[in-house]
Amino acid sequence: TIGMIAIDEHGNMAGGTSTNGAIHKIPGRVGDSPIPGSGAYVDQFVGGAAATGDGDIMMRFMPALIAVEGMRTGLTPIAAAEVALGRIAVYYPKYMGAVIVTNIDGEFGAACHGFDTFPYSVANTALGTVTVFSVKCF
Ligand code: ASP
Repeated sequence: TIGMIAIDEHGNMAGGTSTNGAIHKIPGRVGDSPIPGSGAYVDQFVGGAAATGDGDIMMRFMPALIAVEGMRTGLTPIAAAEVALGRIAVYYPKYMGAVIVTNIDGEFGAACHGFDTFPYSVANTALGTVTVFSVKCF
């Protein structure tokens, strides 16, 4: 899955996903990526998030929505990402997934679970160019 959160110069936000879906998926499977709140979610006044991973598990927990709601309560993007995935890990300790998160101020972060590290790309005026960050999974 490719997940993306964008903020334009006026502060408008959008989120999107594009995915192959799950390996060996059955015909007709929709998966998590196109489901608002699961694959991606944006609140214009808070921030946005996009998820990837074991969609059949993750879609039951709406990780993108949970991350945005976490930021609404004051969490940093990184903390919100960890909370969103940590909730899934309680029930599925072996699932693999990641979430990218940014708030409306452009602060960003990510979390991942079930594998080693997760790379994600960021482009903004401060960085000047597309920059790859990496987060260690829990
Ligand atoms: N979340 C996707 C799915 O389960 C797979 C992926 O993120 O690679 O359809």
